[in-house]
Amino acid sequence: MEDRLKMKFLLTLSFVLFCFAGPCHADVNGGSTCAACDVVLGLVEQTSAIHNESLVKALERICNYLPDDFQKSCKVFLEYIGPILITIVEDRDTPDVICSKLGLCTAETGPQCTLFPLKPGTKLHHYSQDPVLVQKTKHLDMPKVGVKICDFPGIKEICNWIDDIFSNHEPAVDLDGDKHSPYETLRGYSWRGKDCDDRLTGVHPGARTINDDINMDSNCNGVKGLDPTTQMPYEKVLCEGSEPRGIAVLGDSISAHFHLPREWFNATELSTAVFEGLPYIGENELDWPAFSYATGFMNATDTLRKVIHGPTDSVYLRMWERNRCNFRDYQNIAVNGARSGAMADTIEKSLYRNKTGDYPLIVYYALVGNDVCNGHPDTINHMTKPDEMKENALKTLAFLDSMLPMGSYVFLTGLADGRVLYNSLKDRIHPIGALRNDVTYAHFYDYFNCLEISPCTGWMNTNQTLRDLTTQRANELSAVLEKIANTSAGNYKNFKLWYNENPINKVIDEWTAQGKQAWELLEPVDGFHSNQLGNVQVARAIWQEMEQQWPEVLGKVNPNNDKIRAIFGDQGGYR
Ligand code: CA
Ligand code: CA
Repeated sequence: MEDRLKMKFLLTLSFVLFCFAGPCHADVNGGSTCAACDVVLGLVEQTSAIHNESLVKALERICNYLPDDFQKSCKVFLEYIGPILITIVEDRDTPDVICSKLGLCTAETGPQCTLFPLKPGTKLHHYSQDPVLVQKTKHLDMPKVGVKICDFPGIKEICNWIDDIFSNHEPAVDLDGDKHSPYETLRGYSWRGKDCDDRLTGVHPGARTINDDINMDSNCNGVKGLDPTTQMPYEKVLCEGSEPRGIAVLGDSISAHFHLPREWFNATELSTAVFEGLPYIGENELDWPAFSYATGFMNATDTLRKVIHGPTDSVYLRMWERNRCNFRDYQNIAVNGARSGAMADTIEKSLYRNKTGDYPLIVYYALVGNDVCNGHPDTINHMTKPDEMKENALKTLAFLDSMLPMGSYVFLTGLADGRVLYNSLKDRIHPIGALRNDVTYAHFYDYFNCLEISPCTGWMNTNQTLRDLTTQRANELSAVLEKIANTSAGNYKNFKLWYNENPINKVIDEWTAQGKQAWELLEPVDGFHSNQLGNVQVARAIWQEMEQQWPEVLGKVNPNNDKIRAIFGDQGGYR
């Protein structure tokens, strides 16, 4: 446990970067190792230019920005790579040239993929092709051809640690097995309402009260005990008849709110301050569920405010505002890269609801892109087909019917139209090119496609036909979900079932109609997800749609909200 809680080094930067946000294809042309090399050396080279110092000094400077544990690993890496860089790097070498010399970027499928513009006359080659370099590096432990980023000294152990976190989607700390945790990260209360007693399975957010919560707070909503004047239980007086309910999302990185700080990828913004939140961010899989449109509940702390920008709004927060008895009743069951198949096979099983012991749940099934997103060059043939989508969704619905309390609600959410990404970002500069304005998103997308590590080759592509075909498949899959909702709703006894359009495109349309720019709602580093501002807009849009079309889902406004606030204050807070 102790080791798992220690996050080190830059999260091996690009290695986790994109492959964990989407399903990653096998490495080609150096793949994620090449991307990691180019991005890290890009930051190092730019830092050296800013401070007029050597590459090794600049890498040391960046290591020193990192929190203690990470710093140690970074320096182990520095000790290894430092002498190599000093020996092989020549004056005009750009990061791509250096990564090629090291053998981390290769050229198996055509010309080498390059992140930065090559200087005229530059040749890319492995160090072994240069007799002078072979001679000079004789005494050095040069990386072997085909080495992976995780094989490097200082990075190896971090990779194991990361694998551990990213492969487990259940709370690391949960003694009573109700999937609610008293611990914050590692799928704890960042993701699902905090467990106020981790020894009793029947005590957790969303539980029906035990003995009217006279003695203990069985649903962790902060309401318990007796009114001293009337001797009536507060749960009875303030919550009974208010029809409490929780909200859960079965989703992907959009719902988990994947967010890589821009400040980590912009050499002009690197500092100690921007890395302070690294342990928290890593232990949440680079996701920000506590700030997300579905289950967000907090505004950024002083530390996190340096790397996430804007306030939080969510469907959960509005459910709580509507009925304060709903406090802490949220579950974010979203996993980066999740497709409908993985959801039906494994991910959904980490949802927790006791059919008779808990209140009803509103569930959003929101797999909004990965079924059409992959990094394969032959991307179309690796997308989910309509009949597979149907099978997967029906499997999940059967599962939900077997475990949700009667009176629950399920929404099948359509896929997004990712064409907006390319159209709004293509000519803009990616943070990694901020210093010299030399890397556009259009180029950045192609670079990832060249390495076959794009989170979404279909949409993040300069080929318009491919982008259109990807949208066509997305529309076909949405149609499958809509049809299920329209024809099968009567098959389920524990929930009502509806289809809702994906909100993001509507949000962007409304936003641009006001004369604002679509990119303002998008994540700058990955060029793929909605950012904090986008999440706030999505929460509002979903809520408005529910108010207009499905008001019964939201439940009543609790007339006792003010009393609850007066008596129980922040209801115990979230921490
Ligand atoms: Ca628990
Ligand atoms: Ca209670």
